[in-house]
Amino acid sequence: MGKTFLQLKSMEEARRLLEAFSPLPRTEQVTLREALGRIPAEPIETPEALPAFNRSLMDGFALRASDAASAKETAPVFLDLIGQVQMGLAPRQSVGPGQAMAIPTGAMLPSGADAVVMVEHTRPIGPESIEVCRAVAPGQHILGRGEDLAQGTRILPAGRRLTPLDLGALAACGLVTLSVCALPRVAILSTGDELVDPDEKPGPAQVRDTNALTLAAQVTQAGGQPLRLGRVPDDASALLNATGKAVEQADMVLLSGGSSVGVRDHTTTVLDKLSGGKLLLEGIALSPGKPTLLADIGGKPVFGMPGHPISSFVVFHVLVASLLRRMSGAHPPWKKQGLRGRLTENVESAPGRESWLRVRLEETREGWSVIPVRGGSAVYSSLAHCDALLRLPAGLEGHAAGDEVEVEVLR
Ligand code: AMP
Ligand code: MG
Repeated sequence: MGKTFLQLKSMEEARRLLEAFSPLPRTEQVTLREALGRIPAEPIETPEALPAFNRSLMDGFALRASDAASAKETAPVFLDLIGQVQMGLAPRQSVGPGQAMAIPTGAMLPSGADAVVMVEHTRPIGPESIEVCRAVAPGQHILGRGEDLAQGTRILPAGRRLTPLDLGALAACGLVTLSVCALPRVAILSTGDELVDPDEKPGPAQVRDTNALTLAAQVTQAGGQPLRLGRVPDDASALLNATGKAVEQADMVLLSGGSSVGVRDHTTTVLDKLSGGKLLLEGIALSPGKPTLLADIGGKPVFGMPGHPISSFVVFHVLVASLLRRMSGAHPPWKKQGLRGRLTENVESAPGRESWLRVRLEETREGWSVIPVRGGSAVYSSLAHCDALLRLPAGLEGHAAGDEVEVEVLR
């Protein structure tokens, strides 16, 4: 063992340091088919009015409201039925006084008509006339041209991730390509002489590299593009070389493992050297996740992530993800999936550190039960049962069984 982490920074300080990194200026054009989850680079305005023509909102009859202003059940109004509007075709007839045309939902209102009476409020009188039994007001059951969205209306702000519903609204306006923020490229490098690829059979004393895969998936979920650059041996000059190359290719770099204070841990030295002394973080008051490093290399954030799989996962979730979202152009950058429930057991935090506990969720008649999952940061078994994370701020000793808490859902 060489040195120890003397300068643990608080999570507040760590988050503040991340503010130094800016959103990326790059944008690109994508088609609607590729746009799910992407972030519009500029506010989007509709190029066309919606609907493009006056449409019926009901199945019924198009008429002149003044003809049926006095209609009621006991004194119905008779109208001549002059035809039927076809879906997708502009009506060829016009509706005159005392006349009506059958019209389906969504069809174009014929000229002359200014309202639609629902079919339920009429009675057929032979093939060529109907009885209207309810009074009708002008504009009733009609969505007028541009009434949904006038041309030039701002429908989506910049910076908000596109949902399936957003894609539908854009398609309705004929916006089939759009300018979105480029995905931040995040290089991922694993260190550790004990590691092999997940599809290899580990030799004695070897383990599979799982962090590279998990981190890449977390990057994708947070709106980045992972660049998996493979593994580097526990060798200072190899790490220096590989990290330098990673920084050139990427907007952010994650180095997995080697961030601690063991004799084979070279990340601190390498980051210090490449950043010219701008090692911003050397250990955080976080549990799990104390051995986390951050350097500013040419304006790019380079993280030394803890090797323990659970710690690596938590550090990404609580620190890296919000920076990545902000770099990707998303604002607000942090999306929380909170859920309230009651603890089934007492929980304690690590003294002086912000703690993130793994919990399982169970739905009961009284609401959600929050069940702590025990296990160190080196064991996968605890993650397999983990549905959510519970944050205990530094300074809070813990919670008692029965306390209501808010957790962050992971699934
Ligand atoms: P380190 O941070 O390099 O000291 O590693 C701490 C622990 O995490 C050791 O038990 C490593 O074997 C393990 N570890 C490091 N990197 C990985 C990885 N990429 N996948 C799985 N386990 C890892
Ligand atoms: Mg290691």
